[in-house]
Amino acid sequence: MALTGIQIFKLLPKTNCKECGVPTCLAFAMNLASGKAELDQCPYVSDEAREQLAEASAPPIRPVKIGNGVRAFTVGGETVLYRHEKTFYNPTALGALVASDIADADLEKMLKEYNAFQYERVGLNLRPEYLAVKDVNGDAAAFAKVAKTIAETSEFCVVLLTENADVMKAGAEACAAKRPLLCGANADNVDAMGALANDMGLPIGVKADGAEALIALTDKLTGMGIKDIVIDSGAREIKKAFEDQVTIRRAALKSGNRSLGFPTITFPCEMADNLAVETMFAATFIAKYGGMVVLSELKGESIFPLLLERLNIFTDPQRPMTVTEGIYEINNPDENSPVLVTTNFALTYFIVSGEIEGSKVPCWLLIKDSEGLSVLTAWAAGKFAGDDVGMFVKKCGIMDKVKHQELIIPGYAAAIAGDVEEELPGWTITVGPREAAHIPGFLKNR
Ligand code: SF4
Repeated sequence: MALTGIQIFKLLPKTNCKECGVPTCLAFAMNLASGKAELDQCPYVSDEAREQLAEASAPPIRPVKIGNGVRAFTVGGETVLYRHEKTFYNPTALGALVASDIADADLEKMLKEYNAFQYERVGLNLRPEYLAVKDVNGDAAAFAKVAKTIAETSEFCVVLLTENADVMKAGAEACAAKRPLLCGANADNVDAMGALANDMGLPIGVKADGAEALIALTDKLTGMGIKDIVIDSGAREIKKAFEDQVTIRRAALKSGNRSLGFPTITFPCEMADNLAVETMFAATFIAKYGGMVVLSELKGESIFPLLLERLNIFTDPQRPMTVTEGIYEINNPDENSPVLVTTNFALTYFIVSGEIEGSKVPCWLLIKDSEGLSVLTAWAAGKFAGDDVGMFVKKCGIMDKVKHQELIIPGYAAAIAGDVEEELPGWTITVGPREAAHIPGFLKNR
């Protein structure tokens, strides 16, 4: 159970040195207890106290790192039941099954095809994280070969799905460097699977029939010294699987049940007989507590909306989504192309850039940091003032890219035109349309 501020205070050095950013150790202890501070902010905590405090201040759902390389991911680590209470931290990891008897050529083709499912949004690369190799015939060599090929010839992380400890060992050894998830422990094989995970220092996935049965298994695994555990409630019917997700999350967060304080893995691939329904089930688990979602295959019409849903759910609701300040080239602009400026609110950027792209008119789009506010709000809050915009135009480098001296500002920020002109002597400041939908007509009529 979590420690109170006073209990934490007793473990601190009590020197009030202020290096943690607050005036006293007591204030720091209170902040730590309420989750407003990190233990690492105090450099003087003894190792013994650190161990006790780290355990007490650990998130109620353990964060588990899976994989290595650019697609490595962490699941779990969540601290709230509802996103608006604070934020969700670690996005649901998405991946698809690969049968262990797949032919070499088919696997090569699949990896190439799956690798293409990457989408740029708000400056992020959205993509699935892993492939789950499913043992279909107990052939350890074939299982290991597929795992090895995925690990060595693609960026995907690997999940190994088998309940056979020998097959699992072969697969784990073939891709150990990729830090695969060994997913297949159950009541019958938990000793062998646990020993394997322990020996290799790899995360383990454990399955049982419901939350209560899971407790016995996670207790056994933690008793063996294993901490990185992913849990599968065993349900393969959507209603029961959904209930299990809620039960497990509530037990970890509301009842402080450490035995269920682990991220979950869900299998919509085994719950539906067509991809559309499977995708809806996957969407349910992204919204409600699935740490990992396993799909039967990756198809653009399925993975793209799931990635977007995930992006929306796992962004901090207290911080607006932004794009990076800078110069964006749209439709291959040259030195004579018009220059437009707007704010860095992600939605503003996507709507404006989409309209410019659709107009087919080559343009330079300048994105000024407005702390993620839209044009009208940013202007009203003083984050898109004329002198700031003028200074930004000067320093962003656009003057080296164009021969003309004309800047198009958003219609909603028409009031800043005079101040921009003062900051940019010799430039013509043109007020563009208020609505993004009118941008194509505006550009074409110039
Ligand atoms: Fe106390 Fe540590 Fe903060 Fe110093 S840095 S005031 S010792 S909690």
